[in-house]
Amino acid sequence: MSANHVFAQGGDQILDGIGETDLNARYIFRGDLNDWSRNNLHSRIQGSDFRFEKDNVFGDVLSLSGDQEVFITIPGESVTGLESLSITGWIYLRSSEVGQVLFDFGQNSQLHLQAETVKENDGIGYMVQIQTEKDKFVVQTPALELNKWNHLAVVINIPTRTLSSYINGMLVGQTRNVSVNLQHLFDNRTVSNNKLYIGKSIAPNHKNLNAKLHDFRIYRIPLNNGQVARIHANALNLDQPVVRVRDEADPSLPKYSENTPQLYNAYLISVPDIKVETAVGHLPSLPAYVQGVYSDGIEGPSVRVIWPAPEDNKQVLAPGTYTVKGRIAGSHIQPTAFVTVSEAKKITIPNQTLGDFGLNRVILKTDLENNDTKFIENRDKFVTVLAKTNPDNFLYMFRNAFGQAQPKGAEPLGVWDSQLTKLRGHATGHYLTALAQAYESASYDPSLQATFLQKIDYMVNTLYELAQMSGHPSVAGGDFVSDPTAVPPAPGKLGYDSDLSEDGIRTDYWNWGLGYISAYPPDQFIMLEHGATYGTDNTRIWAPYYTLDKILAGLMDIYEVCGNEMALETAKGMSDWVYARLSKLPTETLISMWNRYIAGEYGGMNDAMARLYRLTNNPTYLETAKIFDNIRMFFGDSNRSHGLAKNVDMFRGLHSNTHIPQILGALEVYRSSGAPEYFHIANNFWRMATNDYMYNIGGVAGASNPANAECFTAQPATLYENGFSAGGQNETCATYNMLKLTRELFLFDQRPELMDYYEQALYNHILASVAEDSPANTYHVPLRPGSIKQFGNPHMKGFTCCNGTAIESNTKLHNSIYFRSTDNQALYVNLYVPSTLEWTERNITITQETSYPNDDHTRLTIEGKGKFDLRVRVPHWASKGFYVKINGKSQKVKAVPGTYLTLRRNWKNGDTVDLHMPFHFYLKPVMDQQNIASLFYGPVLLAAQESTPLNEWRKVSLDANDISKSITGDPKKLEFTIEGVKFKPFYDTYGRHSVYLDVTLK
Ligand SMILES: [Zn+2]
Repeated sequence: MSANHVFAQGGDQILDGIGETDLNARYIFRGDLNDWSRNNLHSRIQGSDFRFEKDNVFGDVLSLSGDQEVFITIPGESVTGLESLSITGWIYLRSSEVGQVLFDFGQNSQLHLQAETVKENDGIGYMVQIQTEKDKFVVQTPALELNKWNHLAVVINIPTRTLSSYINGMLVGQTRNVSVNLQHLFDNRTVSNNKLYIGKSIAPNHKNLNAKLHDFRIYRIPLNNGQVARIHANALNLDQPVVRVRDEADPSLPKYSENTPQLYNAYLISVPDIKVETAVGHLPSLPAYVQGVYSDGIEGPSVRVIWPAPEDNKQVLAPGTYTVKGRIAGSHIQPTAFVTVSEAKKITIPNQTLGDFGLNRVILKTDLENNDTKFIENRDKFVTVLAKTNPDNFLYMFRNAFGQAQPKGAEPLGVWDSQLTKLRGHATGHYLTALAQAYESASYDPSLQATFLQKIDYMVNTLYELAQMSGHPSVAGGDFVSDPTAVPPAPGKLGYDSDLSEDGIRTDYWNWGLGYISAYPPDQFIMLEHGATYGTDNTRIWAPYYTLDKILAGLMDIYEVCGNEMALETAKGMSDWVYARLSKLPTETLISMWNRYIAGEYGGMNDAMARLYRLTNNPTYLETAKIFDNIRMFFGDSNRSHGLAKNVDMFRGLHSNTHIPQILGALEVYRSSGAPEYFHIANNFWRMATNDYMYNIGGVAGASNPANAECFTAQPATLYENGFSAGGQNETCATYNMLKLTRELFLFDQRPELMDYYEQALYNHILASVAEDSPANTYHVPLRPGSIKQFGNPHMKGFTCCNGTAIESNTKLHNSIYFRSTDNQALYVNLYVPSTLEWTERNITITQETSYPNDDHTRLTIEGKGKFDLRVRVPHWASKGFYVKINGKSQKVKAVPGTYLTLRRNWKNGDTVDLHMPFHFYLKPVMDQQNIASLFYGPVLLAAQESTPLNEWRKVSLDANDISKSITGDPKKLEFTIEGVKFKPFYDTYGRHSVYLDVTLK
């Protein structure tokens, strides 16, 4: 096994070597019909002639009699959002009758995917058939043995256009040129139109199944031969399951020979040596890019160098010098870095010198043609539906946990907030934040503001009342437990469990300790302390502190925006509950908890606690924040000998969205405590994440090694080798959190690269994550060739994590256009978005008029007067100049790309500042396979518009001296053509796309 294989954290996130995000539904049929994936798509059985029976291979299994009335139905959501489709399951056939339907999935008998038994030479096999109005594709299998368990698998691989059938882990049939559109076969919008049956056909005439069933699974990816073989083998313990590592290359990603020219690196002649100084104990920050010298008169970009990334700081424990050799993809040139480790070297720590503006101080405006910008379009999609939501739906599971009656009209939310989901309540936290932001932003529409304020007050009142009930007797003189550390097991039970079923959930809130508020009883918190891992059964938990973080953040957002004291009281009460329990635990227990995959995912609890300290001045909350330190990632080990605080990358291979909010928390602890190590943690993380793990839309993670699309790659700077997983690449939450971290860092340290990243990720991921005509939004944004975005939650009735962060992102799209220095002597213009700013501290209004990015000009008009520095961002890509006119007069300025330009003046009422930054085309390559690159025009990522799924990267040839010579089109519309293929901004792309291209320079 090579050193590049890392073991992901424990837990069952990778079942049979396949990341759980690839699994849409799983029915084990061990005494129930529940979905044991995380999606809660529980099945039902019709009729009565069935039973769960003991089986000597699999324990409890489901037995169907073959009766006409007995069959299983699966929710229609199970086949939405598919990249491809794989179905696997164990079957024990008892009848040789042909025409028994194993499963039938589709909209009607002319549009469906069906598997049924057919006659084979020496017995019966099964036939899979896809039928659409135009086409019919069929694949068959050899005969199956009757009265024996057989593992069946059907794989529809969209990129390779194959339909494959498997028996017992072996490929037994394959049909090629299967051009089927899964978005057409199934209804992604009205999911109830999808009829999914096991043991029955959609058409009325059929034979029902006489068989036993076990472990039926639906995957959204095309399983490969190895994966199917492993699912089969693991179930029978045929070999030692080797999970959590990738054991075969992803077959659909091309491998390139060493001689493949990798863009400009093919013309590279030399790079200079590097000299770096670092402090004892701190790994040096080696530059990711150095200047290169190119042949043939080529003006190439800075050269990406991949340096070794040690997993500790042994090299820098004492003063001295050493050298490091780096590598350059597609070149044999090896750059050298000479590192001096010195006692004297001081690493400077900035103080916070900037402040932001409240969301009500910046109003988004239409563009120069009076059209809504993408910012306004997306905001309005969300605000419109948010204004119509019923708060009682978001309170449903809270009332359910406290055993309270539901008001008329209240409906439970679905997906991760449904009855049995151990994460329920998470959407409510996002909802509180979204309401606060929508309320504050809607200063342009008082009636909309009133609508949101009403919802806010109702939500807070109800949560406050429930929290006040906890730990108090339910009737006068009744029993109660007020001490959070003394919460007993549920009445009649000996231990704690996570049973949330209607009949099984405990509702004895009087025993839960003072201040408790959550949409589930306290057991999950307690079980985590006792070692519980992530999983769906009642001995396991999901992520109790993750959910709590959202709720606390929402309450504090409301307090800060509306001054609602009850919101703050509720947050304080629950935080006291948390402190009471966690402050009693030994450090080893905390380390174990926070490193337990998903179970210990706590969002930004450290962020929330440090913020609560800031709001209350109660030092207990700052202490609570530090209880959430992820010691291994922050400090390397319990001796605190290295970690991110010393510039050691400790997050390779980890779940990205678990860890980014922890980093936000570190920065918040620094803000409150001034302890420099917490600034280093945040700053070092940001640099590593954006240099070594970032895709071109600004997202991170997407690992194929480890086999979990939500993880950072196993090693830094190996996106091509270890990234681009088949199950999706960039989780939208992760980018939401990266943007949050970026703007907070910028308030301390005005490094222009921070806002360059902010623009890249905001335009090319966040703006690109929303459906064309509703607030439906993306979870994973797929970046493989010819892929398509999937949008969910158009009606705000069932939230995944990313649906939750989407209602936050889209109610604060304007929060980083402008910042001010804390002494109000400088104004930062970070983003070029048509808007009006009220800088009330200076009695100044700034109006920004532009059609950017459909135009490369912007105009700022100043109302009011006074002396201040106007600092305008000169984007890193503005290498064709940056021109400034004040009141129509050209200014002599030295504007360097990737800096802020300061315009210092005694400004007068009506002064105008015109900025012109000509856009041009450029490529952003993948660091370890540079011929795979994305095309940008100014800040905008241009995606190739594809008509079909692709099995390899789209190839384009571009002029080596000037790539724009190979591109035609209309910059106003941002629509271009290369070799007959249309390119559009990724944020305007709703069909199939290629974000990455295989580029040859000619
Ligand atoms: Zn998410």
